[in-house]
Amino acid sequence: MNGNRKLLVFLLDALCASDVEFIRNLPHMGRVLREGALIEHVEPIYPSFTYPCHCAIVTGNTVKGHGIPHNEKLEVENNNAPWYSKRSEIKCDTIFDYARRAGLKTCSLSWPVSGGADIDYNLPMIVPYHYSGYDAMQFLSGNATQSLLDEYFWKYGRFLVGEERSLDLFTMAVAPDLLRDFGQPDLMYVKMCDLDTKRHNHGLYAPQVYEQLRKHDQEFAVLEEAVKRYGDYENTNFVIMGDHGHQNIQHYVNMNMVLRNAGFIRTDENNNLLDYDAYCFSTCMSGWVKLKDPDDKEMAKKVYDYLLSLRDDPEFPIGVVMTKEEVLERYGLEGPLDFVIEGTEEEPTEFEATLAGEDIFKVHLGPGLYFSVASHGHLPERNETTTFFASGPSVRKGAVIPRTKMINEAPTMAAMVGLNMDKCEGHVINEILAD
Ligand SMILES: [Zn+2]
Repeated sequence: MNGNRKLLVFLLDALCASDVEFIRNLPHMGRVLREGALIEHVEPIYPSFTYPCHCAIVTGNTVKGHGIPHNEKLEVENNNAPWYSKRSEIKCDTIFDYARRAGLKTCSLSWPVSGGADIDYNLPMIVPYHYSGYDAMQFLSGNATQSLLDEYFWKYGRFLVGEERSLDLFTMAVAPDLLRDFGQPDLMYVKMCDLDTKRHNHGLYAPQVYEQLRKHDQEFAVLEEAVKRYGDYENTNFVIMGDHGHQNIQHYVNMNMVLRNAGFIRTDENNNLLDYDAYCFSTCMSGWVKLKDPDDKEMAKKVYDYLLSLRDDPEFPIGVVMTKEEVLERYGLEGPLDFVIEGTEEEPTEFEATLAGEDIFKVHLGPGLYFSVASHGHLPERNETTTFFASGPSVRKGAVIPRTKMINEAPTMAAMVGLNMDKCEGHVINEILAD
Protein backbone atom coordinates (compact mmCIF):
# COMPACT_ATOMS: atom_id res chain seq x y z
CA MET A 1 0.00 0.00 0.00
CA ASN A 2 3.06 2.28 0.17
CA GLY A 3 2.47 5.37 -1.96
CA ASN A 4 -1.28 5.50 -1.52
CA ARG A 5 -2.53 8.92 -0.60
CA LYS A 6 -3.89 9.34 2.90
CA LEU A 7 -6.14 11.80 4.67
CA LEU A 8 -5.86 13.16 8.21
CA VAL A 9 -8.69 15.49 9.24
CA PHE A 10 -8.29 17.70 12.32
CA LEU A 11 -11.69 19.21 13.08
CA LEU A 12 -11.90 22.08 15.56
CA ASP A 13 -15.44 22.57 16.82
CA ALA A 14 -16.48 26.20 16.15
CA LEU A 15 -13.44 27.12 14.07
CA CYS A 16 -14.41 30.45 12.49
CA ALA A 17 -13.48 32.01 9.17
CA SER A 18 -11.85 34.92 11.01
CA ASP A 19 -9.48 32.53 12.86
CA VAL A 20 -7.46 31.98 9.70
CA GLU A 21 -5.45 35.19 10.11
CA PHE A 22 -4.42 34.18 13.64
CA ILE A 23 -3.61 30.60 12.61
CA ARG A 24 -1.44 31.79 9.73
CA ASN A 25 1.25 32.74 12.25
CA LEU A 26 1.08 29.54 14.30
CA PRO A 27 3.92 27.07 13.62
CA HIS A 28 1.98 23.90 12.85
CA MET A 29 -1.55 24.64 11.64
CA GLY A 30 0.00 27.71 10.00
CA ARG A 31 2.19 25.42 7.90
CA VAL A 32 -0.90 23.83 6.38
CA LEU A 33 -2.14 27.30 5.42
CA ARG A 34 1.23 28.40 4.06
CA GLU A 35 1.79 25.23 2.03
CA GLY A 36 -1.76 24.44 1.06
CA ALA A 37 -5.13 25.63 -0.18
CA LEU A 38 -7.81 27.62 1.63
CA ILE A 39 -11.58 27.91 1.39
CA GLU A 40 -12.11 31.13 3.34
CA HIS A 41 -15.80 30.75 4.14
CA VAL A 42 -17.58 27.43 4.43
CA GLU A 43 -21.33 27.85 4.89
CA PRO A 44 -22.52 25.11 7.25
CA ILE A 45 -25.77 23.31 6.67
CA TYR A 46 -28.85 24.60 8.51
CA PRO A 47 -28.97 24.47 11.46
CA SER A 48 -25.30 25.39 12.05
CA PHE A 49 -25.32 22.92 14.93
CA THR A 50 -22.62 20.41 15.90
CA TYR A 51 -24.23 17.04 15.18
CA PRO A 52 -26.08 17.91 11.94
CA CYS A 53 -22.90 19.58 10.64
CA HIS A 54 -20.61 16.66 11.56
CA CYS A 55 -23.02 14.40 9.68
CA ALA A 56 -22.89 16.76 6.67
CA ILE A 57 -19.08 16.69 6.77
CA VAL A 58 -18.94 12.89 6.46
CA THR A 59 -21.92 12.44 4.11
CA GLY A 60 -21.96 15.49 1.80
CA ASN A 61 -25.67 15.88 2.56
CA THR A 62 -28.03 18.35 4.23
CA VAL A 63 -30.44 17.16 6.92
CA LYS A 64 -32.98 15.86 4.40
CA GLY A 65 -30.25 13.55 3.06
CA HIS A 66 -28.62 12.38 6.30
CA GLY A 67 -31.53 12.56 8.73
CA ILE A 68 -29.91 14.18 11.81
CA PRO A 69 -31.65 17.55 12.35
CA HIS A 70 -30.33 18.46 15.83
CA ASN A 71 -27.95 17.25 18.54
CA GLU A 72 -30.89 16.00 20.59
CA LYS A 73 -33.91 13.87 19.74
CA LEU A 74 -36.26 16.73 20.55
CA GLU A 75 -39.37 16.11 22.61
CA VAL A 76 -41.91 18.65 23.82
CA GLU A 77 -41.19 19.67 27.45
CA ASN A 78 -38.23 17.32 27.85
CA ASN A 79 -35.04 19.25 28.49
CA ASN A 80 -33.13 15.99 28.95
CA ALA A 81 -33.95 14.37 25.63
CA PRO A 82 -31.38 11.78 24.50
CA TRP A 83 -28.77 12.85 21.95
CA TYR A 84 -28.20 11.16 18.62
CA SER A 85 -25.36 8.68 19.07
CA LYS A 86 -25.50 5.72 16.66
CA ARG A 87 -24.22 5.54 13.10
CA SER A 88 -27.40 3.62 12.24
CA GLU A 89 -29.38 6.85 12.82
CA ILE A 90 -27.72 8.39 9.72
CA LYS A 91 -29.80 7.37 6.71
CA CYS A 92 -27.16 7.49 3.95
CA ASP A 93 -23.56 6.42 3.24
CA THR A 94 -20.66 8.19 4.91
CA ILE A 95 -17.16 8.69 3.48
CA PHE A 96 -16.10 5.78 5.71
CA ASP A 97 -18.49 3.44 3.86
CA TYR A 98 -17.03 4.48 0.50
CA ALA A 99 -13.51 3.99 1.89
CA ARG A 100 -14.24 0.57 3.36
CA ARG A 101 -15.74 -0.64 0.07
CA ALA A 102 -12.52 0.50 -1.65
CA GLY A 103 -10.46 -1.51 0.84
CA LEU A 104 -9.08 1.51 2.71
CA LYS A 105 -8.42 1.52 6.46
CA THR A 106 -10.55 4.02 8.36
CA CYS A 107 -10.32 5.71 11.76
CA SER A 108 -12.63 8.12 13.56
CA LEU A 109 -11.87 9.63 16.97
CA SER A 110 -14.53 11.44 19.01
CA TRP A 111 -16.88 12.02 16.06
CA PRO A 112 -20.57 12.51 16.90
CA VAL A 113 -23.24 10.03 15.71
CA SER A 114 -20.72 7.28 15.02
CA GLY A 115 -21.53 4.68 17.69
CA GLY A 116 -21.25 1.19 16.21
CA ALA A 117 -20.04 2.49 12.84
CA ASP A 118 -18.32 0.15 10.40
CA ILE A 119 -14.96 1.90 10.87
CA ASP A 120 -11.72 -0.01 11.50
CA TYR A 121 -10.64 2.14 14.46
CA ASN A 122 -13.61 3.92 16.01
CA LEU A 123 -13.92 5.78 19.33
CA PRO A 124 -17.20 7.71 19.06
CA MET A 125 -18.22 10.84 20.95
CA ILE A 126 -20.87 9.08 23.01
CA VAL A 127 -20.51 9.78 26.74
CA PRO A 128 -23.60 11.95 27.43
CA TYR A 129 -22.97 15.68 27.56
CA HIS A 130 -23.92 16.11 31.23
CA TYR A 131 -22.42 12.84 32.50
CA SER A 132 -20.02 13.37 35.39
CA GLY A 133 -19.90 9.82 36.79
CA TYR A 134 -17.05 7.33 36.79
CA ASP A 135 -18.15 4.62 34.37
CA ALA A 136 -17.53 5.84 30.83
CA MET A 137 -17.08 2.27 29.58
CA GLN A 138 -20.83 1.63 29.80
CA PHE A 139 -21.30 4.09 26.89
CA LEU A 140 -18.32 3.00 24.78
CA SER A 141 -18.77 -0.73 25.10
CA GLY A 142 -20.43 -2.08 21.97
CA ASN A 143 -20.15 1.31 20.25
CA ALA A 144 -16.35 1.65 19.97
CA THR A 145 -13.76 -0.69 18.42
CA GLN A 146 -13.05 -3.32 21.06
CA SER A 147 -9.32 -3.60 20.28
CA LEU A 148 -8.91 0.14 20.94
CA LEU A 149 -10.77 -0.12 24.25
CA ASP A 150 -8.60 -3.11 25.22
CA GLU A 151 -5.43 -1.28 24.27
CA TYR A 152 -6.05 2.22 25.67
CA PHE A 153 -9.01 2.48 28.03
CA TRP A 154 -7.11 1.20 31.08
CA LYS A 155 -4.69 4.14 30.91
CA TYR A 156 -6.72 6.92 29.24
CA GLY A 157 -10.32 6.16 30.30
CA ARG A 158 -9.70 8.37 33.35
CA PHE A 159 -9.91 11.43 31.05
CA LEU A 160 -13.57 10.58 30.35
CA VAL A 161 -14.89 10.58 33.93
CA GLY A 162 -15.75 13.00 36.72
CA GLU A 163 -16.68 16.67 36.72
CA GLU A 164 -13.51 17.74 34.91
CA ARG A 165 -13.66 15.14 32.15
CA SER A 166 -12.01 16.16 28.89
CA LEU A 167 -12.73 14.41 25.63
CA ASP A 168 -9.91 16.40 24.00
CA LEU A 169 -7.34 14.98 26.45
CA PHE A 170 -8.61 11.46 25.76
CA THR A 171 -8.55 11.94 21.99
CA MET A 172 -5.05 13.36 21.97
CA ALA A 173 -3.76 10.61 24.26
CA VAL A 174 -5.08 7.86 21.99
CA ALA A 175 -4.25 9.38 18.60
CA PRO A 176 -0.42 9.13 18.59
CA ASP A 177 -0.47 5.71 20.29
CA LEU A 178 -2.92 4.43 17.69
CA LEU A 179 -0.68 5.65 14.85
CA ARG A 180 2.28 3.88 16.47
CA ASP A 181 0.51 0.63 17.39
CA PHE A 182 -1.82 0.09 14.43
CA GLY A 183 -0.07 2.07 11.66
CA GLN A 184 -1.54 5.07 9.85
CA PRO A 185 -5.10 4.49 8.61
CA ASP A 186 -5.87 5.74 5.09
CA LEU A 187 -8.56 8.03 6.50
CA MET A 188 -8.23 9.39 10.02
CA TYR A 189 -10.76 11.90 11.42
CA VAL A 190 -9.90 13.58 14.73
CA LYS A 191 -12.45 15.88 16.35
CA MET A 192 -11.62 18.43 19.09
CA CYS A 193 -14.23 20.15 21.31
CA ASP A 194 -12.66 22.85 23.45
CA LEU A 195 -12.64 25.82 21.05
CA ASP A 196 -16.45 25.70 20.97
CA THR A 197 -16.61 25.65 24.77
CA LYS A 198 -14.31 28.69 25.01
CA ARG A 199 -16.47 30.63 22.54
CA HIS A 200 -19.72 29.75 24.36
CA ASN A 201 -18.25 30.73 27.73
CA HIS A 202 -16.18 33.79 26.85
CA GLY A 203 -17.38 35.15 23.49
CA LEU A 204 -16.55 34.97 19.83
CA TYR A 205 -13.25 36.89 19.96
CA ALA A 206 -12.26 36.47 23.62
CA PRO A 207 -8.57 36.09 24.58
CA GLN A 208 -9.35 32.55 25.82
CA VAL A 209 -10.31 31.62 22.25
CA TYR A 210 -6.87 32.49 20.90
CA GLU A 211 -5.19 30.71 23.80
CA GLN A 212 -7.24 27.64 22.85
CA LEU A 213 -6.19 27.93 19.20
CA ARG A 214 -2.57 27.82 20.40
CA LYS A 215 -3.37 24.64 22.35
CA HIS A 216 -4.97 23.09 19.29
CA ASP A 217 -1.84 24.02 17.34
CA GLN A 218 0.26 22.06 19.84
CA GLU A 219 -2.09 19.10 19.50
CA PHE A 220 -1.88 19.24 15.73
CA ALA A 221 1.92 19.19 16.10
CA VAL A 222 1.61 15.86 17.93
CA LEU A 223 -0.43 14.38 15.09
CA GLU A 224 2.05 15.65 12.49
CA GLU A 225 5.00 14.24 14.41
CA ALA A 226 3.26 10.89 14.95
CA VAL A 227 2.61 10.66 11.20
CA LYS A 228 6.28 11.51 10.55
CA ARG A 229 7.45 8.83 13.00
CA TYR A 230 4.97 6.03 12.36
CA GLY A 231 3.11 6.83 9.16
CA ASP A 232 3.56 8.07 5.62
CA TYR A 233 4.01 11.83 5.93
CA GLU A 234 4.85 12.49 2.29
CA ASN A 235 1.60 10.92 1.13
CA THR A 236 -0.63 12.47 3.77
CA ASN A 237 -3.17 15.20 3.04
CA PHE A 238 -3.79 17.22 6.19
CA VAL A 239 -7.17 18.96 6.47
CA ILE A 240 -8.04 21.49 9.19
CA MET A 241 -11.68 22.48 9.36
CA GLY A 242 -14.59 23.50 11.59
CA ASP A 243 -18.22 22.49 11.87
CA HIS A 244 -19.88 25.94 12.23
CA GLY A 245 -19.09 29.49 13.26
CA HIS A 246 -20.48 31.46 16.21
CA GLN A 247 -22.28 34.71 16.94
CA ASN A 248 -22.13 36.92 20.02
CA ILE A 249 -25.59 36.82 21.59
CA GLN A 250 -27.38 40.16 21.92
CA HIS A 251 -30.82 39.01 23.11
CA TYR A 252 -32.30 36.01 24.86
CA VAL A 253 -35.90 34.99 24.20
CA ASN A 254 -37.70 32.32 26.21
CA MET A 255 -40.00 31.75 23.27
CA ASN A 256 -42.36 29.35 25.04
CA MET A 257 -43.15 32.06 27.59
CA VAL A 258 -43.91 34.42 24.72
CA LEU A 259 -46.19 31.77 23.20
CA ARG A 260 -47.86 31.25 26.58
CA ASN A 261 -48.49 34.98 26.97
CA ALA A 262 -50.14 34.90 23.53
CA GLY A 263 -52.37 31.98 24.54
CA PHE A 264 -50.69 29.24 22.50
CA ILE A 265 -49.38 27.38 25.59
CA ARG A 266 -51.23 26.52 28.80
CA THR A 267 -49.40 25.79 32.08
CA ASP A 268 -50.28 25.18 35.72
CA GLU A 269 -49.23 27.53 38.52
CA ASN A 270 -45.83 25.79 38.72
CA ASN A 271 -45.10 26.46 35.06
CA ASN A 272 -45.65 22.82 34.07
CA LEU A 273 -46.95 22.40 30.55
CA LEU A 274 -50.62 21.41 30.41
CA ASP A 275 -51.35 21.76 26.71
CA TYR A 276 -50.15 23.66 23.68
CA ASP A 277 -51.03 24.71 20.15
CA ALA A 278 -47.45 25.73 19.31
CA TYR A 279 -44.21 24.92 21.18
CA CYS A 280 -40.68 26.21 20.54
CA PHE A 281 -37.56 24.00 20.51
CA SER A 282 -34.23 25.74 20.95
CA THR A 283 -31.57 25.38 18.29
CA CYS A 284 -29.72 28.17 20.13
CA MET A 285 -29.53 30.94 17.51
CA SER A 286 -32.73 29.76 15.84
CA GLY A 287 -36.03 28.56 17.23
CA TRP A 288 -38.16 25.75 15.83
CA VAL A 289 -41.86 26.32 16.40
CA LYS A 290 -43.83 23.08 16.29
CA LEU A 291 -47.59 22.89 15.98
CA LYS A 292 -49.42 20.27 18.03
CA ASP A 293 -51.75 19.61 15.12
CA PRO A 294 -50.27 20.71 11.77
CA ASP A 295 -53.53 19.67 10.08
CA ASP A 296 -55.39 22.41 11.94
CA LYS A 297 -54.91 24.97 9.17
CA GLU A 298 -56.75 27.71 11.03
CA MET A 299 -54.42 27.43 14.04
CA ALA A 300 -51.38 27.14 11.74
CA LYS A 301 -52.31 30.45 10.11
CA LYS A 302 -52.93 32.06 13.49
CA VAL A 303 -49.47 31.03 14.76
CA TYR A 304 -47.77 32.08 11.51
CA ASP A 305 -49.48 35.48 11.57
CA TYR A 306 -48.46 35.93 15.20
CA LEU A 307 -44.80 35.13 14.41
CA LEU A 308 -44.89 37.57 11.48
CA SER A 309 -46.29 40.26 13.78
CA LEU A 310 -43.35 39.70 16.16
CA ARG A 311 -40.94 39.95 13.24
CA ASP A 312 -42.51 43.26 12.18
CA ASP A 313 -42.42 44.65 15.73
CA PRO A 314 -39.19 46.71 15.97
CA GLU A 315 -39.11 46.10 19.75
CA PHE A 316 -39.06 42.29 19.39
CA PRO A 317 -35.73 40.60 18.52
CA ILE A 318 -36.91 38.39 15.65
CA GLY A 319 -35.75 39.20 12.13
CA VAL A 320 -36.63 36.03 10.24
CA VAL A 321 -39.72 33.79 10.08
CA MET A 322 -39.70 30.84 7.68
CA THR A 323 -42.17 28.04 7.06
CA LYS A 324 -41.13 24.39 6.99
CA GLU A 325 -41.59 24.41 3.21
CA GLU A 326 -39.20 27.35 2.93
CA VAL A 327 -36.42 25.80 5.07
CA LEU A 328 -36.71 22.50 3.19
CA GLU A 329 -36.50 24.25 -0.17
CA ARG A 330 -33.69 26.68 0.75
CA TYR A 331 -31.61 24.66 3.19
CA GLY A 332 -32.63 21.01 2.94
CA LEU A 333 -33.79 21.13 6.56
CA GLU A 334 -36.58 18.91 7.78
CA GLY A 335 -37.28 18.03 11.40
CA PRO A 336 -39.73 18.54 14.26
CA LEU A 337 -40.74 22.03 13.14
CA ASP A 338 -43.45 23.96 11.32
CA PHE A 339 -41.80 27.41 11.46
CA VAL A 340 -38.22 28.57 12.04
CA ILE A 341 -37.48 31.93 13.68
CA GLU A 342 -34.22 33.77 14.04
CA GLY A 343 -32.91 37.16 15.24
CA THR A 344 -31.34 39.75 12.99
CA GLU A 345 -27.77 39.39 11.75
CA GLU A 346 -26.79 42.63 13.52
CA GLU A 347 -28.37 41.70 16.86
CA PRO A 348 -28.47 37.89 17.09
CA THR A 349 -30.98 36.23 19.40
CA GLU A 350 -30.64 33.01 21.39
CA PHE A 351 -33.90 31.08 21.82
CA GLU A 352 -34.58 29.07 24.96
CA ALA A 353 -37.27 26.44 25.49
CA THR A 354 -37.92 26.96 29.21
CA LEU A 355 -41.24 28.05 30.75
CA ALA A 356 -39.76 29.84 33.76
CA GLY A 357 -37.82 33.06 34.38
CA GLU A 358 -37.96 36.12 32.16
CA ASP A 359 -39.39 36.01 28.66
CA ILE A 360 -37.03 38.42 26.92
CA PHE A 361 -33.76 39.74 28.26
CA LYS A 362 -30.35 41.01 27.29
CA VAL A 363 -27.26 38.92 28.00
CA HIS A 364 -26.40 39.30 31.66
CA LEU A 365 -23.74 37.37 33.45
CA GLY A 366 -23.09 37.27 37.14
CA PRO A 367 -23.07 35.16 40.29
CA GLY A 368 -25.58 32.35 39.97
CA LEU A 369 -26.34 33.16 36.35
CA TYR A 370 -24.98 31.03 33.60
CA PHE A 371 -25.63 31.81 30.00
CA SER A 372 -23.62 31.42 26.84
CA VAL A 373 -22.02 34.63 25.64
CA ALA A 374 -21.83 33.33 22.07
CA SER A 375 -23.56 30.48 20.27
CA HIS A 376 -24.59 29.04 16.90
CA GLY A 377 -27.50 27.39 15.10
CA HIS A 378 -27.89 30.46 12.87
CA LEU A 379 -28.43 30.68 9.12
CA PRO A 380 -25.52 29.24 7.09
CA GLU A 381 -24.78 32.42 5.18
CA ARG A 382 -24.53 34.55 8.32
CA ASN A 383 -21.20 35.45 9.91
CA GLU A 384 -19.37 33.89 11.42
CA THR A 385 -19.11 31.02 8.98
CA THR A 386 -16.54 28.26 9.37
CA THR A 387 -13.48 27.54 7.22
CA PHE A 388 -11.39 24.77 5.60
CA PHE A 389 -7.72 24.48 4.64
CA ALA A 390 -5.57 21.59 3.54
CA SER A 391 -2.07 20.67 2.41
CA GLY A 392 -0.53 17.56 0.91
CA PRO A 393 0.08 15.75 -2.36
CA SER A 394 -3.56 15.98 -3.52
CA VAL A 395 -3.89 19.70 -2.75
CA ARG A 396 -3.14 22.63 -5.07
CA LYS A 397 -0.66 24.81 -3.22
CA GLY A 398 -1.70 28.45 -2.97
CA ALA A 399 -5.27 27.97 -4.16
CA VAL A 400 -7.73 30.26 -2.36
CA ILE A 401 -11.45 30.22 -2.98
CA PRO A 402 -13.72 32.63 -1.15
CA ARG A 403 -16.77 30.53 -0.32
CA THR A 404 -18.38 27.14 -0.62
CA LYS A 405 -21.02 25.01 1.07
CA MET A 406 -20.29 22.36 3.69
CA ILE A 407 -21.88 19.59 1.62
CA ASN A 408 -18.98 19.95 -0.86
CA GLU A 409 -16.33 19.06 1.73
CA ALA A 410 -17.00 15.29 1.87
CA PRO A 411 -16.73 14.61 -1.87
CA THR A 412 -13.65 16.88 -2.03
CA MET A 413 -11.88 15.04 0.80
CA ALA A 414 -12.92 11.74 -0.78
CA ALA A 415 -11.29 12.83 -4.04
CA MET A 416 -8.02 13.47 -2.15
CA VAL A 417 -7.76 9.72 -1.53
CA GLY A 418 -9.15 8.61 -4.90
CA LEU A 419 -12.76 8.01 -3.83
CA ASN A 420 -15.82 9.16 -5.75
CA MET A 421 -18.79 10.03 -3.51
CA ASP A 422 -21.24 10.02 -6.37
CA LYS A 423 -24.43 9.70 -4.32
CA CYS A 424 -24.38 12.86 -2.21
CA GLU A 425 -25.80 16.37 -2.64
CA GLY A 426 -22.36 18.04 -2.72
CA HIS A 427 -19.75 18.14 -5.48
CA VAL A 428 -15.95 18.05 -5.63
CA ILE A 429 -14.22 21.44 -5.36
CA ASN A 430 -11.64 20.81 -8.07
CA GLU A 431 -10.09 24.28 -7.71
CA ILE A 432 -8.26 23.24 -4.53
CA LEU A 433 -7.07 19.85 -5.83
CA ALA A 434 -3.71 19.20 -7.51
CA ASP A 435 -3.78 17.97 -11.13
ZN1 LIG B 1 -19.91 22.32 17.06
